[in-house]
Amino acid sequence: MWARARALNDSLRNPEDPRAIRRALVGDVWWGVAALVWLVTGLWRVIGGTEKASSYYLASNAFAIKMGLFLMIVGLEIWPSTTLMRWRRRKADPDPRDVGRIEIISYVQVALVIAMVLAAASMARGIGMRGGTTAAVSDSASGTMSPLDSASSVRGSAAPRDSAALANVDVPETPEPSGTEAITAEDVSLLTRQITMPLDGVDPTTLRSNFDERRGGGSRQHQALDIMAPRGTPIRSATAGRVLKLFTSANGGLMVYTADSSERWVLMYAHLDRYAPGLTDSSRLQRGEVIGYVGSTGNASPNAPHLHFAIARSADVKRWSRGRPIDPLPVLVTARSATR
Ligand SMILES: [Zn+2]
Repeated sequence: MWARARALNDSLRNPEDPRAIRRALVGDVWWGVAALVWLVTGLWRVIGGTEKASSYYLASNAFAIKMGLFLMIVGLEIWPSTTLMRWRRRKADPDPRDVGRIEIISYVQVALVIAMVLAAASMARGIGMRGGTTAAVSDSASGTMSPLDSASSVRGSAAPRDSAALANVDVPETPEPSGTEAITAEDVSLLTRQITMPLDGVDPTTLRSNFDERRGGGSRQHQALDIMAPRGTPIRSATAGRVLKLFTSANGGLMVYTADSSERWVLMYAHLDRYAPGLTDSSRLQRGEVIGYVGSTGNASPNAPHLHFAIARSADVKRWSRGRPIDPLPVLVTARSATR
């Protein structure tokens, strides 16, 4: 688009140069190709649900802004594209006044495209989400909202400190089984022998399991352990091993996926306020080493900072988002009683 605008400007300054208009038409073709690729991949991501649930997009203000900008760009393109088409087919000769207009429109479109990219980037980081209403929006979008769910939504938004607030929004990307993982007693005892509570001063026997709870308004199982803690509480690696992936998602916010030292288990820590300085995708980990700090990024309520801690048996830790989840709480309780 930038090239199209520049070439049109050249043709205004040098009307005798026929190549300038040709360059503008070439720029226009590339813009058309780029727009098509953009549109197809964009629709695929929303409808195909390849990365995030469709409901996530529908609940995002940044997405609404992005689509608004997109419609403005398309709207502005209608007249220039039909005019350029007539020039291309020699149905009309370029009129200097139209050349100038299309140049200006192209520059405006460039600015809108830049704004759209910024909106897309903030969307990917989960900025501009309509916090408390996310669950309700996703429920109505998927048509699964039961009377029970809507009642708990109301309770959750009215009393965000209540654990009902967690129950409505907290569904980070828990590893999903690929179908090839089998959990043996040996696997579990291996994990139990090496694991420790990731937050200091938390006695697992005082916690209640929320592994089987329905979250996301009942649409998904939680399959993790939520541990409430003040924002900024250090999160320690529950096992020795290594970082598999520092990941950011709409639901989980700042996340760390790690492997235990046997590489049989993937451990996932979500809603982090920030990572420990220097932590990378390839960091080796000692048990108890600080990896980050408790927060409420992603779809955690800002009033209820907590650690979302998941453990899954992995068939291949390179596929860090795959695995068969187990309830971390009984493992933590057994590990604690064994060290006493
Ligand atoms: Zn959770």
